[in-house]
Amino acid sequence: MTNRFVRPDIAEMEPYIPIVPFEVLSARLGRAPEEIVKLDANENPYGPSPKALEALRNGRFFHIYPDPESNELREALSSYVNMPKSRLLTGMGADELIDLVLRVVLSPGDVVIDCPPSFGMYPFSTAVNSGQYVQVWRKKDFSLDIAGIETAVAQNPNAKVLFLCSPNNPDGSTISDTDLRRLLQLPLLVVLDEAYVDFAFDLNRGERGEHREEKENSAPSASSAVNNSSRIQWTLEYDNLAVLRTFSKLAGLAGLRVGYGAFPEWLLPHLWKIKQPYNINVAASLAALASLEDQQWLHEKVQLLVTERERLFAELGTIRYLNPFPSRSNFILCQVIGRDAQTLKLDLEKEGILVRYFNKPGLDNCIRISAGRPEETDRLITELHHLGE
Ligand SMILES: *Cc1c(COP(=O)(O)O)cnc(C)c1O
Repeated sequence: MTNRFVRPDIAEMEPYIPIVPFEVLSARLGRAPEEIVKLDANENPYGPSPKALEALRNGRFFHIYPDPESNELREALSSYVNMPKSRLLTGMGADELIDLVLRVVLSPGDVVIDCPPSFGMYPFSTAVNSGQYVQVWRKKDFSLDIAGIETAVAQNPNAKVLFLCSPNNPDGSTISDTDLRRLLQLPLLVVLDEAYVDFAFDLNRGERGEHREEKENSAPSASSAVNNSSRIQWTLEYDNLAVLRTFSKLAGLAGLRVGYGAFPEWLLPHLWKIKQPYNINVAASLAALASLEDQQWLHEKVQLLVTERERLFAELGTIRYLNPFPSRSNFILCQVIGRDAQTLKLDLEKEGILVRYFNKPGLDNCIRISAGRPEETDRLITELHHLGE
């Protein structure tokens, strides 16, 4: 029985299942954290840049509240993404920005359109904000059902927000310019999640952001060493587009919680009004700033991870019972054929190798493996061969 004070929609929500903390899992497996091959959460195995660690060690103002406007960080981001600072807002991870946008936009019952399988925070934050969650399933190859999205919008006059994720978590596919431009014609706020955009290039082509078909838009931002396949600058062209980015995957700062986004002009004042004043803490801000000053390091690690993604893909293709999907991100989704994916996950776990397991619609009997260090790929592949004997 629920208390009469609890909001009925909250009372009905499924409880959140927390992940097992890394230290706890390490103790349970009887292995030191350094021995564990952690390929289950798309974290950056190289960790933060040495400059970020140094900035944290040298921090002198941890006893002072942070700048509510994160001016220094937004200034640095402004030159990094080549966008006016006034259009950028930082968040406690991109996750907070997903929630903030929905808090501003949704009245109870308003519709949010999502294209599963995709990121779990979209349905979560929709539910917390009393939105109505409408799903337009991706096709078998994980491409978007564009006509299906248009139909869903036509059928839901109170549709307000469309979440798109490119590269998409958990499969790593990207959205083409043509599809994105078509979806931007809809009377919706489109939230494009680019958490993995820094990995969205093909090593062999030598050209970043290879998914672009419209060459006139492929000019890289002069200041950014790491990324030029982002559509963040499209927010200057479309006033119904928000683009989210994060330091979690690129800069190895997942544990410090810092993300940012570019938003339409009309939305920003409202986001500013409702955000918690001290959402970006002093440590997160120092580390993010120092990371941006170490773009050479970020760039090297991205190159290593994309190289490793390609090698991992080739190696996984040699495992009889796995069907890997091509990915433009720092992870690879595999369908497990003729055996139980959960058992496989647990067998790997016993050897100290962590992968993500899924078994839900669109992700039937699947595992997702993050790109790690070369030696981590080696251990994984050896074990996968061993388990196939
Ligand atoms: C990891 C992730 C994020 C958010 O990351 P934060 O750590 O909250 O910045 C956002 N979107 C997708 C698709 C992700 O996988």
